[in-house]
Amino acid sequence: MHFIMKSILFSVLIFSLTIGVTIAQNLNVLSEDAIANLKTIRVVDTEFSKGRLGHEQEIELADLVKLHGHLCDGLVVGWRALEKGMHALYADEPVDRTNTRLISKPSPCLADAGMYISGGRTAFGSFEVRNDFDGLYLIQRIDTQEAVSVSLNEGVKPAIIDEMGSQAVNQELNPCDLQKLRALEDDFSNYLLEEDSNFFTVKHLPLKWT
Ligand SMILES: [Zn+2]
Repeated sequence: MHFIMKSILFSVLIFSLTIGVTIAQNLNVLSEDAIANLKTIRVVDTEFSKGRLGHEQEIELADLVKLHGHLCDGLVVGWRALEKGMHALYADEPVDRTNTRLISKPSPCLADAGMYISGGRTAFGSFEVRNDFDGLYLIQRIDTQEAVSVSLNEGVKPAIIDEMGSQAVNQELNPCDLQKLRALEDDFSNYLLEEDSNFFTVKHLPLKWT
């Protein structure tokens, strides 16, 4: 085989392996069942800055992990909640990121997930972080004004995670307990992804965007 051809093939192989390793590292706390159950969220944007709507993409949980910095239970809660909320607004159509605005509860994990999937931007008035509503997110279609709230059902998240989480923030956990907390959070992420139970409640509601 020609030397240049060999070099190209070798580079492609190394590139593919690198991508494989990155994806594996991003999701390495997930069980086989959770990974097998992962779905994508279809979104649509304009083709260029002044273009028409029509550029469709499939977003994976691994993409969100790159934005957020790590896989965590908060990100998985956000991902699953957004799957439900966006389905209620767009059914089987892709999420129109030029036509969606979102309010998130003040959690960096929820906010990153919400911003990424909705395309909402604080600077342009289509994304907010607030604490004065029930649930995790309020999501609205701009064209129809239709809005939903998405909440995590009571009892789904083990209370110990929030208890230990507060202790961790106050630097009251030793390294061993921190590891325990991480394991609990990873178990919770897998629980949310392994099956499609009724973990969330989606409610249609009037929303006046101010
Ligand atoms: Zn996080």
